[in-house]
Amino acid sequence: MKTTEIFKMKRVLSFEIFPPKRTGPVQTIYNTVDELKALKPDFISVTYGAGGNKNNTKTLTIASDIKKNYHIESVAHLPSISLTKEEVLELLESFKVAGIENILALRGDSSPNITPNNDFHYASDLITFIKDNGDFNIIGACYPEGHIQSPTIVEDILHLKKKVDAGADQLITQLFFDNDYFYTFRERSMIAGIKVPIQAGIMPVVNKKQIERMVTLCGASLPRKFLSIMNRYEHNPEAMRDAGVAYAVDQIVDLIAEGVEGIHLYTMNNPYIANKIHKAVHSLFVE
Ligand code: FAD
Repeated sequence: MKTTEIFKMKRVLSFEIFPPKRTGPVQTIYNTVDELKALKPDFISVTYGAGGNKNNTKTLTIASDIKKNYHIESVAHLPSISLTKEEVLELLESFKVAGIENILALRGDSSPNITPNNDFHYASDLITFIKDNGDFNIIGACYPEGHIQSPTIVEDILHLKKKVDAGADQLITQLFFDNDYFYTFRERSMIAGIKVPIQAGIMPVVNKKQIERMVTLCGASLPRKFLSIMNRYEHNPEAMRDAGVAYAVDQIVDLIAEGVEGIHLYTMNNPYIANKIHKAVHSLFVE
């Protein structure tokens, strides 16, 4: 099923997972999916390392198994920064054969181990290409605080509108810790004429280093309340985990009260955390 169809029926709850590292056994992810399945997510998305091996088939295999063996809708991430048009065509063909209907189409980021290819400059170029070469449901990324490379949030939203006009059927946000950014972004997107569902991406903090790394990469603001939690509990993993879960639950409750169309939980492959959050908020997804 195309995930956009789910929004017509209910408020969406989805999970993001990432494939195990190249050296790690692939089975570990299936132990995680076994536990996530019990929470009945509307879909699970599987990331794709833009810097990874081009023949990296883990995302494809895991997304296909989630759909075929676990009977949960899946989304395959696809960053195009280092890919040629021919390589994307091959991947699209493999997605079709594997029964994958949903693609999170991304530009990806350059880094020392990534050689950018100029076939796709922006995610909107990839989205146009996918639309021309298959019948996929396409999801795009969006940034409540503005993308880190964008000079202003207004320019970023104008670029986002181009991405939606190119064919993005749905959007998922970057993580954020202050819901007010989301509400302002949602309003500005509406004014810009963006009408597709926008799902809020929520990442529970379970470890100070992990959040600091993420924040360096994406530039998310850390509210005072959030910083106090990180500073007070950084040496007490259990308390940090509980406080991180409580903070994420608080964000989700507020977002749902304000009518968000869906929550995308960055699980960090941690079913314990997903389970705790699900227990606290699952009734809010039933209208
Ligand atoms: P774009 O939409 O292309 O935007 C990138 C920048 O270019 C923005 O500043 C934008 O304003 C600007 N821009 C866009 N169009 C134009 C234009 N026409 N002219 C001038 N400027 C323009 N990365 C991975 O490698 N693998 C993953 O699995 C992955 N999953 C992600 C999931 C989510 C939900 C999110 C939010 C991000 C994910 N990322 C992933 C990270 C993503 O690749 C980076 O955030 C990347 O920097 C931007 O990708 P994008 O698709 O949003 O790019």
